[in-house]
Amino acid sequence: MKQKKNTLLIVDDENTNLKVLTHILGGDYIIYTAVNGINAIEKAKELLPDLILLDILMPEMDGYQTLSAIKQTDEIRKTPVIFITGLDSKEDEEKGLALDAADYITKPFSASVVKLRVRNQIQIINQLRMIEHLSMIDELTHIPNRRSFDNRISLEWKQAVREHLPISLLMMDLDKFKIVNDTYGHQQGDVVLKTLAGVFIRALRRPADFAARWGGEEFVVLLPNTRLEGALEVAENIRAAVEKTQIPCTCEPDKYSEISMTISIGVNSMVPGKDDKIDTFILNADKALYMAKDAGRNKVIPSP
Ligand code: GH3
Ligand code: MG
Ligand code: MG
Repeated sequence: MKQKKNTLLIVDDENTNLKVLTHILGGDYIIYTAVNGINAIEKAKELLPDLILLDILMPEMDGYQTLSAIKQTDEIRKTPVIFITGLDSKEDEEKGLALDAADYITKPFSASVVKLRVRNQIQIINQLRMIEHLSMIDELTHIPNRRSFDNRISLEWKQAVREHLPISLLMMDLDKFKIVNDTYGHQQGDVVLKTLAGVFIRALRRPADFAARWGGEEFVVLLPNTRLEGALEVAENIRAAVEKTQIPCTCEPDKYSEISMTISIGVNSMVPGKDDKIDTFILNADKALYMAKDAGRNKVIPSP
């Protein structure tokens, strides 16, 4: 798979400098430009570049001030900045690095050194993103993990509170899963988890719907902007889809066969106020799940 090109925002008040840098870097990256500090912050917020190349000597807001402003702007505070400047004293360089610039290049610069220093920063960013991505994915099922769910629910919860929107949660636990492990072995248990994770993902309908592995054989589905009726419908679809999924099984040596599973689902839904707590919301979905187990399993039960 071809990787998407990284993006750079180049900030300089002199057009010639913008042209030269665009010429040097335009083959490897997508280039955006800005002509002063204010313009740079606006564009960075809008375009979210991977890296910013920042001149220091500019009228009104200089590069140091621009960097300080970047560090105080939520959307872009983590975007690395390389100073590229005519200021070549040790003191200026120290000041720039102390402000958390990722690097400091002095003019006149060599084109190949600029290329390499930009490449170094871009490699760091791409590696960080990869690590961030991996830390959010469950290793066995390749769907989002608990950490990812925690992040997502806290974002969606805040939005629901702000906009007085409903939010729903499905807490789901496979029925009698231990028997699969005990009868056919742990590997077959893993096949069941992987297969059903795919079923959960395919059951989602809206872009904001989110399924994750909560841990073990428990999964969660978060449905932003969804009332109880809608959530019960999604839950029932999942319950029915699990029941009819034929899971490949190495139940007998050299013979292909299939098994099927059932799932119990507790559903909670509310329009959260600012004093409501996410933990209580989750706990109540969990209580409904236990009611579904008590009621004989393979059931969807709403939180009372
Ligand atoms: P119930 O209907 O009450 O939920 O019964 P259950 O057997 O599903 O529940 P229980 O909590 O007794 O057993 C869960 C089992 O899930 C026990 C644990 O070993 C197994 N398990 C947890 N994580 C994994 C995993 O990653 N792979 C496999 N194969 N098994 C796992
Ligand atoms: Mg279970
Ligand atoms: Mg369990």
